[in-house]
Amino acid sequence: MTMSSNHRLHDAVEALKSTRVRMTPQRHAILEFLYESSIHPTADDIYKALEGRFPNMSVATVYNNLRVFKEVGIVKELTYGDSSSRFDSVTTDHYHVICNDCGKIVDFHYPGLNEVESLAEHVTGFKVNGHRMEIHGTCPDCKGELAH
Ligand SMILES: [Zn+2]
Ligand SMILES: [Zn+2]
Repeated sequence: MTMSSNHRLHDAVEALKSTRVRMTPQRHAILEFLYESSIHPTADDIYKALEGRFPNMSVATVYNNLRVFKEVGIVKELTYGDSSSRFDSVTTDHYHVICNDCGKIVDFHYPGLNEVESLAEHVTGFKVNGHRMEIHGTCPDCKGELAH
């Protein structure tokens, strides 16, 4: 675990403690997995990674915990229409680049496109409250495999 993910995990645990949410070993493990992983896992990914340690855990347990984390504001959910949601431990604004081959989602930072929001508001009359931009392509791992 890197210093920064350790620090962010600590803050998330403190945020949970300040609510009435009870910290259980399972709950802590799910949170820890999310904060250590940068792949934006699905509930199923988390379940598969932890079922060995928690044989009584179900995918529903993972979902319930993720819902709690989302309510507390320490996890963001990324929905993709019919396919299952991905979960992001980075709750500040950032953008994503998504691999079309393996589905991996990687964070990157770019100044927020506020002028696009203002333009949209201006030309449509909407009250704009956010936007989502995703870049698609082939990740270095998948690019590498193609070259062999
Ligand atoms: Zn890939
Ligand atoms: Zn992200």
